Amino acid sequence: MYDRDRILDSVDLASLADEVLGEHHGSDRSPTWPCPNPNHAQTGSTPPVTIFRSNTGDERWHCHGCGAGGTAIDLVMTTQNVDVREALEALAARSGISEEDRPLRRTRRCTPRHVPSDGVTDPDGLASYVDACAKPGSTDLMV
Ligand SMILES: [Zn+2]
Repeated sequence: MYDRDRILDSVDLASLADEVLGEHHGSDRSPTWPCPNPNHAQTGSTPPVTIFRSNTGDERWHCHGCGAGGTAIDLVMTTQNVDVREALEALAARSGISEEDRPLRRTRRCTPRHVPSDGVTDPDGLASYVDACAKPGSTDLMV
């Protein structure tokens, strides 16, 4: 599985749009692109697609003419005619993310760094521990 959020985070949607929709029109501050929807006939000189950031922080593209839009994944799916998985693969490859490069799971086995090989490593500590246990009153269970 690919990490969808991580892939989306890694994508600069404007530069992706430049790649798949062609160089943007207008200024870099308010760029616009032609709509990738084949059913949307465009006649105006100002392309209808802009990019905005959603409430959740994702970059989205939106066509003001026909309402097409979505994430970078949707843009790749629409322009490359591929499914979600292929779109994720394309974006991951573009960002240099491999499928195996996903974040490590939190569950991991504990491997002791140092295992004493010769029994007691602190004889004095052990002796004082034994003495403490042997003291009268330290435990009622000892007979
Ligand atoms: Zn459109």
